[in-house]
Amino acid sequence: MKGTSPRLFLLILLPAVILMVLAPRFCSGQAFTLTRLADGFDYPVGKPDSYGYYVYRGFTQNGHLGEDWNGNGGGNTDLGDAVYSIANGVVVFSQDYKKGWGNVTIIRHAYRGKSGQILFVDSLYGHLHVRMTKVGERVTRGQKIGTIGRGPHNMYAAHLHFEIRQDLRVGMHRSMYPQTYQTYTVGGPRTFLKAHRVLRYESRMVRVPINTFQKKTNPNRAYTQDISVPKLSEDEEGSPSIPETTSSVISRETEPEATTPAATRSMLKRLLGRD
Ligand SMILES: [Zn+2]
Repeated sequence: MKGTSPRLFLLILLPAVILMVLAPRFCSGQAFTLTRLADGFDYPVGKPDSYGYYVYRGFTQNGHLGEDWNGNGGGNTDLGDAVYSIANGVVVFSQDYKKGWGNVTIIRHAYRGKSGQILFVDSLYGHLHVRMTKVGERVTRGQKIGTIGRGPHNMYAAHLHFEIRQDLRVGMHRSMYPQTYQTYTVGGPRTFLKAHRVLRYESRMVRVPINTFQKKTNPNRAYTQDISVPKLSEDEEGSPSIPETTSSVISRETEPEATTPAATRSMLKRLLGRD
């Protein structure tokens, strides 16, 4: 590189690298849809307070990553009972996933956190007997989205497996992320619900990121590395400021905890003169 002006190097190469990193994100990566803000969260069964149901297996970090809800009658007495969306949101996954799962629906919710910023969580409803919504469909708090089932080949006594995640990348690939409160919500689903039963009503729609689930194949592809969405700030109007400015994305990408592939990250660091 001797003889080449460092400034020229930066002028040509830096924008090229930035484009390589950002182009996939803006062309095919971060997509958005609109959803109504959650005005509160209810329980997924026995609407709205879980009347007639109990958790017979709770959330444990690095263990059971959700709650198993069962009817008070036990056994299969709750087979076919209604399962409700815990809040306003948009369906981001609806599929017979087979394996130990059977029918699974995941709904993405936007809500206003205590500090005023807009946050997102995914709620997952597993082992459903029937699914009643499709991907992309907007749902409202308390809307029936399916019924309690027994999993593939009736492998379980009827129950609802219910999860809440604050990391929007998890999807059906739980093993790729820390199985802790950091990925899910502190204390597990019920703790989250209890803390968010009533939120101020706001009629506005907000943008919610979609297509954020990590692809299991080739996880190091840049376009699958999404920004930590719950941390997105909002602009004056109150909607998430997305897409973010180039500079903020770059600074995020170069943070040590960023999930960008190591090679890209170190290259950016070198070019930006950071350590
Ligand atoms: Zn379970």
